[in-house]
Amino acid sequence: MHRGLPWIHGVCWVVALGLLASSASIDTAAAKPEPTPFESAHPALRSSLQRIAAGSRLWRDAMGLLDGTGRRAVLVTPDQVRVQDRGEGGRRRGFDPGVVAEVAPVPTEDSRVQEVLVVVNLPLLQRAYHERPNASYDEWTRDLDRIVIHEVYGHAVPYLVAGSLSGRCPDPMPGQAAEDACAIRRENAVREELGLGRRLDAGLAGLALIGRDSSARWGQRLH
Ligand SMILES: [Zn+2]
Repeated sequence: MHRGLPWIHGVCWVVALGLLASSASIDTAAAKPEPTPFESAHPALRSSLQRIAAGSRLWRDAMGLLDGTGRRAVLVTPDQVRVQDRGEGGRRRGFDPGVVAEVAPVPTEDSRVQEVLVVVNLPLLQRAYHERPNASYDEWTRDLDRIVIHEVYGHAVPYLVAGSLSGRCPDPMPGQAAEDACAIRRENAVREELGLGRRLDAGLAGLALIGRDSSARWGQRLH
């Protein structure tokens, strides 16, 4: 659930709309509390963050490591970002509607990382939920939590703890067992604390709602 790092591969950037302005206002407002390590303006994403924090000691430990550093992961929805092709006059386009989720560290010029964007494709998840007459709300929240755990704890936290691009924690390489990959090992540790099952593959099979569909329907685009 993490498309490599688009800008490392030189293909594109993921840029946030309006987030810089909100960051600036937080930075300059002395009365406001320090930003928390994981933030979202979206109620469904905020609820997911709260559920995971309530049930996972590993997650809370990660928050503790980041407390006071000012480093943070910001969870957004696809309508809040644009993907820009690199190079002069790179084309700007919307987030790929078939991608379930993706992370994009926001590096400074010297490769330090203070912020990681986590894009979660809630419209796609909501569609999967509504198209299944028998799907329960519990299944929806558990799938959402699995995705948030993978992106935040699997990918974003290692960047933020390192404070630089050296923290990259990748998905499985070709030929590598999924459970041996850095991001999935971390994901599974938190899933275990929350009783969310163990992820055994690099694709969608570990998700209840989307995973039951054929890969042809939803694609294999979990990054
Ligand atoms: Zn991933």
